[in-house]
Amino acid sequence: MTFTTRFAPSPTGPLHLGHAYSALLAADMARAAQGRFLLRIEDIDRSRARLQWEQQIYDDLAWLGLRWPDPVMRQSDRLPRYRSALAQLTAMGLTYPCCCNRRDIEAAAGAPQEGVPQFGPDGRIYPGSCRSRSMADAGPQDVIRLNMAKAVRAASLRHFDETGESHGGTHPLYPDHLIQAVGDIILVRRGMGSAYHLSVVVDDADQDITHVVRGADLFEATQIHVLLQALLDLPTPVYHHHGLIRDEQGKRLAKRDDARAIAKYREDGAQPQDIRAMVGLEQAPV
Ligand code: GLU
Repeated sequence: MTFTTRFAPSPTGPLHLGHAYSALLAADMARAAQGRFLLRIEDIDRSRARLQWEQQIYDDLAWLGLRWPDPVMRQSDRLPRYRSALAQLTAMGLTYPCCCNRRDIEAAAGAPQEGVPQFGPDGRIYPGSCRSRSMADAGPQDVIRLNMAKAVRAASLRHFDETGESHGGTHPLYPDHLIQAVGDIILVRRGMGSAYHLSVVVDDADQDITHVVRGADLFEATQIHVLLQALLDLPTPVYHHHGLIRDEQGKRLAKRDDARAIAKYREDGAQPQDIRAMVGLEQAPV
C-alpha cells in the first residue's frame, strides 16, 4: 500500500508551532517515502469548530509549502459512517448510554486510593455507574460509552496472545492497563453524533493511512485506537509519536497560545523556512 500520512487538525483555533511541526514532519516523511500526505478537518464538535479557523488552516499550511489532494475529508460530512461503526460495536454488546455529568462522576469515583489511577487519556476514569443500562434506553441527553472490560475480552480473541500482549504492530495493547487506567471511554458525545476516538480510527482506515504522525500527548490515546481497530476489523497503521514543541517555561503549546500562532509569525514577517528552523526541521528540499 502507498505510504500515506495525514495531518488532522480541529478548526477550533489558530494553528501554532506545534501543529506546524506535526504537519511538516508528516509531509516530509511522505515525501521521503514517495508517498502521499493528506489533510483532514476534524470538525465534529460543532459548538467549537469555525469555518474561519478552517480557512486559516488551509492558508497557513499552504504558506508553509504543504500541498494535499482535494477534496479534503471533513468529519462533519461523515456522521452516517460513524453511526455504522457505532452500530457494529453495539451489535457486539460493547456499548451503553450514560447520563452522568462531571459532578456525578466525581461523586461516584469517591476518595482516591493508593495505586489506583484516577485519570486516563480522557480525563477522570469513569466509575461505571451507568454500565448496566441498555442501548434501547439511550436518549438525547446521553453519551455512549465503550464497556472497556468487555471490549478487551472481545478484542483478545483476535488481537492478544496468551501473555496478554498484542501481536506485532508499533503499539502493543495491555488489557489490564486499558481496563484500569483508561476505562469506559466516550464513543459518542452528547449531540455530536460521534467522538474523537471513534471518528479518528474510521477516518484513518477510510483514507488508507499507513503512517500516523502525531504528538506524544496522544500516546495514551493511540492505545484506544488500536483497540477499536481490532474490534472494528480495521488495519492498524504505524504510529510515530513525536516530541512536543514547548514554550520557554517548558509548557506544551495549546490553541490559546496565540502568541505562537503561525498567523502571528507570518504577520511579523517570518518566512516558512524560519518556522522550519524554529521547530528543528531541516530545510525543505527544493
Ligand atoms: N484533531 C486531533 C488533534 O488536533 C487529531 C490528532 C490525531 O489524531 O493525530 O489533536
